[in-house]
Amino acid sequence: MPILIDRRKFLCAAGAAGLLAKTLPAKPERLRWSLLSDTHVSQDPEFANRGFFPARNLKTVVGQVTASRWNQQVINGDLALRLGQTADYQRFMELTRPLIAAAPLALSLGNHDDRINAIAALGAKNVVAGKWVSTFEAPPFQIVVLDSLYLTNQGAGLLGKAQRDWLTKFLDQHADKPTLVFVHHTLDDSDSSLLDADRFLKIVTPRRQVKAVFYGHSHAYHYGVEDGLHLVNQPAVGYNFDDDQPIGWLEFEFDAADARITLHAIGGNQDLNGQTKLLKWR
Ligand SMILES: [Zn+2]
Repeated sequence: MPILIDRRKFLCAAGAAGLLAKTLPAKPERLRWSLLSDTHVSQDPEFANRGFFPARNLKTVVGQVTASRWNQQVINGDLALRLGQTADYQRFMELTRPLIAAAPLALSLGNHDDRINAIAALGAKNVVAGKWVSTFEAPPFQIVVLDSLYLTNQGAGLLGKAQRDWLTKFLDQHADKPTLVFVHHTLDDSDSSLLDADRFLKIVTPRRQVKAVFYGHSHAYHYGVEDGLHLVNQPAVGYNFDDDQPIGWLEFEFDAADARITLHAIGGNQDLNGQTKLLKWR
């Protein structure tokens, strides 16, 4: 079963009554995506960290997500607990089966994934310069899912020159399309963040068609903006590192003008549960 990029296009539903349809161009409906990150699934379904059970959390989130209809779903890295073992991915597949059945699911790799095991277990097909990179269309948007895995079970991430060069070329070849980028690692100057974050930001920030970068890794929920480019830090599904942070997922509803992102917190700090953030695209 193709679990990564089902290139199904979600064209606008006609929807309107016949008379209206004759007089007005069909208005594209807003896209609805579910965004998950840092599931940290262990082969052991009872594995716990800081009192959180990643497998139970993922089951809860999958139940919430599959209660609605989505155009697309994304899980932004650290799919596996720590080492990216094949049995972790088998458990991950078992837990995410209802998502896969519901809508296309795009995956990225994090520092707790193993590229060879993940590609073998999950059936990845899109490899750029040895990295697992996906692109797909969500009209009018195009989506780029990068691979920042450097060394499994080490904090830091790296895109590397070949992937950065590919990204530059890809964006320049598709400069007319609004673009969303997904990458696992945080973009600050910490030694455990994306080591080439500066060089990455120098590529995406001046290319105005890139509207937002979504990332995980910190197990924190946070928004930033740089020259109009939105930087969205997705919360973790598996566990938090800090009691102040929620566990959960994001509902992302958007069109060519703006986006609304709603937090669905299932654990940790749930103060912001249900709150919606409005992002205007640059
Ligand atoms: Zn993580």
